[in-house]
Amino acid sequence: MSCPYGDMPRLLLVLPSTTYRTAAFVAAARGVGAELTVGSEQPSTLESANPAGLITLDLQNPERAVEQARTFARHHPVDAVVGVDDDSAVVAAAVAERLSLKGNPVAAAVATRDKHRQRRLLAAAGVPIPRFALHQLDANPHELAQTVAFPCVLKPLRLSASRGVIRADDPGSFVAAHRRLSAIVAGCDAFFLVEEFIPGYEVALEGLLVNRRLHVLALFDKPDPLDGPFFEETIYVTPSRVPAGLQGSIAQCAQRAARALGLVEGPIHAELRYNERGPWLIELAARPIGGRCSAALRFEDGASLEELILRHALGLPIASLRRESQAAGVMMIPIPGAGTLREVRGVPEAKAVPLVEDVQITAHLGEQLVPFPEGSRYPGFIFARGTTPAAVEAALREAHRRLAFVLT
Ligand code: ADP
Repeated sequence: MSCPYGDMPRLLLVLPSTTYRTAAFVAAARGVGAELTVGSEQPSTLESANPAGLITLDLQNPERAVEQARTFARHHPVDAVVGVDDDSAVVAAAVAERLSLKGNPVAAAVATRDKHRQRRLLAAAGVPIPRFALHQLDANPHELAQTVAFPCVLKPLRLSASRGVIRADDPGSFVAAHRRLSAIVAGCDAFFLVEEFIPGYEVALEGLLVNRRLHVLALFDKPDPLDGPFFEETIYVTPSRVPAGLQGSIAQCAQRAARALGLVEGPIHAELRYNERGPWLIELAARPIGGRCSAALRFEDGASLEELILRHALGLPIASLRRESQAAGVMMIPIPGAGTLREVRGVPEAKAVPLVEDVQITAHLGEQLVPFPEGSRYPGFIFARGTTPAAVEAALREAHRRLAFVLT
């Protein structure tokens, strides 16, 4: 296939100012040979020095961001626009719609971003999801607790990374969870969801939609039980050890969900559970896997996840959507407690564990660590590769055992 561009194509990357994703996407833009324009919230003093490389976009106000992108594109035609997280995916969709670029319809991106709208669309399409109900945060929790079935999950509508997601098993824990959730979303939202708790094994599906069709890039097992009351993630390992037939029904469930939400193009990241009643869609996001976790993925020709995403957005040829043959995994290092991080011991020892490729401590010394459910920032990531998922999982656990976080 020949390259559709004479000159280098221009990519507009919509980036929130606090994200771990920048380096991987910037490297990928270089790798695919695109001119990169970073659109971010903070007006940058570098903008005047590099007017085609940086623009200010109001990510909280997609309509305004669209106008800002349109003004920019008059002088510097844009060939593709890509967001990296929940908010920037909505802005990217809005810009794509206005500039007639490949992307998702805005309505689909907005619905995906809102957990209640997502639930309503999935329920209407018959996708298996937990029973759910929307409640006002200022409702009396003691009265509410008399109306819900237990166990249940309380969750905010628009946060991510399991922040504020709390399981309750009885009226007492419901009232306590409601109090915590109210404090977490104070002033940001007036509503929350109460869902049936779905027991079962959880997987994460990383996929790419191409003209509505889902290509599964990786299915990750989450071997640590996620039974609550909080849902801090730890290990992701791929390939999944779930039987092949079941993997097929998990992928089908994610495909149906993407269709029901109206998503058309680009990356998705979905959390699903399965139990004796089949697969359940817990959540689908129109963005790639978060944090630094994408470094666990490498594709057959050596491409990164970000390169695949950019190539797809730019309409450039993609050699393969198949993951490498090695097993790979990442551990989001559990938040070791509440306090100020003073020291991290054992990093060289953790890196020395066979199969471990890297240990990245992303928290900085002096940082205030906040455990779930109020917090959600993992202090770091451990990466491993090996011949089997079991060996990778064992290496991640051993490396983690060698780390010690000193807090005051
Ligand atoms: P977020 O977008 O903040 O990650 P999710 O809705 O994906 O919120 O929930 C985070 C995690 O909480 C899920 O990955 C899952 O482990 C758990 N969880 C959420 N809802 C349910 C549910 N209804 N039943 C069982 N577990 C749930």
